[in-house]
Amino acid sequence: MDVTDSGMEQELAWQIPLYERLHANPELGLAEHATSAAAADLLSGWGFDVRHFGGTGVVGVLANGAGPCVLARADMDALPVTEATGASYASAVPGVMHACAHDMHVVALLGAAKYLAEHRGAWQGTYVALFQPAEETAAGSQAMLDDGLAAGIPRPDVALAQHVMPTEAGTIGTTPGPVLSAGDSVRITIHGRGAHGSMPHKSVDPVVLAASIVLRLQTVVSRETIPGEFAVLTVGSVSAGATANIIPDRAELLLNLRTYSMATRAAMIAAIERIVRGECAAAGSPQDPEFEYYDQYPLTSNDPEANARVTAAFTRTFGADAVYRTAPQTASEDFSRIPDAFGIPYVYWVVGSVPPETYRRAVANDTLDADIPANHSPSFLPAVDPTLRVASQAQAVAAFAYLAAETG
Ligand code: ZN
Ligand code: ZN
Repeated sequence: MDVTDSGMEQELAWQIPLYERLHANPELGLAEHATSAAAADLLSGWGFDVRHFGGTGVVGVLANGAGPCVLARADMDALPVTEATGASYASAVPGVMHACAHDMHVVALLGAAKYLAEHRGAWQGTYVALFQPAEETAAGSQAMLDDGLAAGIPRPDVALAQHVMPTEAGTIGTTPGPVLSAGDSVRITIHGRGAHGSMPHKSVDPVVLAASIVLRLQTVVSRETIPGEFAVLTVGSVSAGATANIIPDRAELLLNLRTYSMATRAAMIAAIERIVRGECAAAGSPQDPEFEYYDQYPLTSNDPEANARVTAAFTRTFGADAVYRTAPQTASEDFSRIPDAFGIPYVYWVVGSVPPETYRRAVANDTLDADIPANHSPSFLPAVDPTLRVASQAQAVAAFAYLAAETG
């Protein structure tokens, strides 16, 4: 099956206005009511059997005879960001913005869903289009699973997802193995003994203890992790006390971890807890430290065989120049919880969104970071053409790599 430019190009006539409408009306995680209703309406109009999971989550199932089952996922939520793009279709909701292109993911997946619905003679099997809430808070895929997703839809053989990135528009990046890091946030509370600032001998000073912990934590990556193994440990917040002449009785540290391997992740967490407990003991802390893990994102690691199959299909459609091997990103995603719940392989790829001239000029001048707004920036705005067309085609092409394989 050849998902040609001309086959999907005509879809832009409804896709662009829908994209602009979603962009102007962004909805935060777990509140994607209008977005979810729009997807559900379109899917049922095209003959999908529509089901709801996890509040705003929507799944459309299109059964089309015996054959493989492909699940494709788009996230729907916006961010608490005030838009500064100046686009004619900029956010009309104060303080909320589609700054991560999830609006484009939604419209692209709808484009592929319609294409599959209208070309049922060209494939066999089952296509599952899944629209997930709250990716940005790592809560959405779990909310759908907690609401019975795994038992409530046909079991997929493979899962697909994509993300629009500030790379050259018209290109697609794929990679076997890790593509996005696992992410964990840790809140650590350490206890001291408060005292007057003039009488430190009566205190166990949690400020000095926190400072010592922050420094010692720097050795987790530099001294304990295998050289070359990817690992990030950032202490993003340290808070203790409020005034100059009082030694407080506690301090709080907020850490963020990124890893590409679950073994490395486990070793880092063990090292963090060991160091914090050790420093607390050394300081004479009167109470054990507390560790709270939150905003936890699973590892996203592409199945090599599935990635090779989808990458070959992309290369046939878009040309070898448009498809490249992407380096793993240090960003994180909660998509993989869905395929992991079924124990199935998945492929996650990235789609470029910056006009080629702009992108190449920034690369030539070495000003990529300064000139190209990245995801979550108030100025992040994908070039609608060709990003939307390529993202729509990519979802269709990847699905056909499985569904059209037997029918040719
Ligand atoms: Zn994001
Ligand atoms: Zn995103």
